[in-house]
Amino acid sequence: MTTSKSILGGGITIDLDAIVRNWKALDTVSGKSLTGAVLKADGYGTGAKVVGRTLYKVGARFFFVATPDEGVALREAIPNAFIFVLDGLIPRAAADYAAHGLMPVLASMSQLTEWLDFCLNRGKAVPAALHFDTGFNRVGFRMKEAELVRRELDQSGFEPQMIMSHFACADQPSHEMTRKQNGLFQGLLNHFPDVPASIANSAAVMSSKDYHYHLVRPGIAMYGGRAINGRPNPMAPVIEMNVPILQIKDARIGETVGYGAAYRLRRDTRIAIMALGYADGYFRGLSGIGGQMGGRVAVNGTIVPVLGRVSMDMTAIDITDVPGLVQPGDPVEILGPTISIDDVADAARTIGYEVLTTLNGRFPRNYVNVPEGVSLD
Ligand SMILES: *Cc1c(COP(=O)(O)O)cnc(C)c1O
Repeated sequence: MTTSKSILGGGITIDLDAIVRNWKALDTVSGKSLTGAVLKADGYGTGAKVVGRTLYKVGARFFFVATPDEGVALREAIPNAFIFVLDGLIPRAAADYAAHGLMPVLASMSQLTEWLDFCLNRGKAVPAALHFDTGFNRVGFRMKEAELVRRELDQSGFEPQMIMSHFACADQPSHEMTRKQNGLFQGLLNHFPDVPASIANSAAVMSSKDYHYHLVRPGIAMYGGRAINGRPNPMAPVIEMNVPILQIKDARIGETVGYGAAYRLRRDTRIAIMALGYADGYFRGLSGIGGQMGGRVAVNGTIVPVLGRVSMDMTAIDITDVPGLVQPGDPVEILGPTISIDDVADAARTIGYEVLTTLNGRFPRNYVNVPEGVSLD
């Protein structure tokens, strides 16, 4: 994690109370189902350890990471939580999982066999979950392997902690794929009647209680991102990011801005250079080269466009229309009350997930509304 002071200035602010409110709202929506928390990719860029401690404090017990290494790091922060590893079992690493109390989400016959052998050697059932592929074609057992899996479990006497699947199109609630996958999942549960089930990501939690089962697994919505396309986002914003202006200059109509001379000024323009570029995760696709959308940022609450190509460390913006005095050192809002994660995502033709996990580059991360007793180390 980065330190909280920088000479450059600017930084990322993460509102832990907003994360708590979002998690509690999802917990309310999920009704009697348990509500987990997905903390992969360092908590979508917000800091898995701090967010893990914060959510544990308000009652979350089930956490999901992508890799076993993320699991090891998170285990230090929340010693008594249940931690699932979504990547599954890495070959020959079963003992490492067990040493840190991490549960692999087993996703293939070879992973299952390796885990059952490991349990046999240990002389006890070490907890793990199962992931079935209901149509995503990412990790997971094939549906046709259900009976074989059942037989292996019966022979070894092993009962998984959880059986799960994952939706391909939950962000588009009317997509028929979601109902189809859910139907397959329901059928699958007949083979595993006593095992707790889980299929819902944020969008599915928010779409229908048909998807809640025993445990829901929200990620993006906790962090304030838009889970469902085409609907207003009800979640509290979690992240603000500000970067300083390095220099301001007046340029004339017809001059060009930046690499490739890709943007030609259509009017006399006051340009501000901000200390932010693609090395910080500000996508080059946010370049403003006329015709295309380009990125938007805010200066003193006024939304202004990116001018020309985003470069590695600096990007030009057009502050001609910003009222009042703007000076070097003043902050530019990249994310915050005026510019949402999804505004940036839409302009870059990507999704909020990528903005969150990428746009944290060189800037220090500061936490606000830290619950009492939550360590920031
Ligand atoms: C990332 C992920 C989630 C969380 O998804 P969101 O859309 O961020 O809520 C849940 N389950 C699995 C398997 C995932 O990979």
